[in-house]
Amino acid sequence: MIILTVPHPILRAVCHPVAEFGHTLQALTDKMLATMYAAPGRGLAAPQVGVARRIFVMDATWKDGDPSPMVFINPVLVQSSATVETGEEGCLSIPDTACDVTRPTEITLRWQALDGTTQEGAFDGFAARCIQHERDHLDGILCTDYSA
Ligand code: ZN
Repeated sequence: MIILTVPHPILRAVCHPVAEFGHTLQALTDKMLATMYAAPGRGLAAPQVGVARRIFVMDATWKDGDPSPMVFINPVLVQSSATVETGEEGCLSIPDTACDVTRPTEITLRWQALDGTTQEGAFDGFAARCIQHERDHLDGILCTDYSA
């Protein structure tokens, strides 16, 4: 898949919830993961590949040699820590740009898996930052917005 870059208008879209779970969705997220690994990146949201749906994929650990592909459908941030941290973020849709973004260090996320079941998990460290970055994409928010 081709990764779209700014100022493509779909990167500013508020994405629609996923209502249908099945082979088509699985095929899409398989392709998204392959595109993310090839980029190479650790997170990729559906609008970045031209699909305005509430989906992102992440593998926070593969660059350290231990793959852990994850697919998040209709993610909702249910809790975030009062503790925040400023860190540098890159985005596959904004080449050669680093943004400093201040975000909660720990979050609880609820989402649906590929089979439609509801999942919930707590994340910290890089995964927490990556999830918040990717979830922002689903509302048309880019990391560069925080430094404006
Ligand atoms: Zn991004």
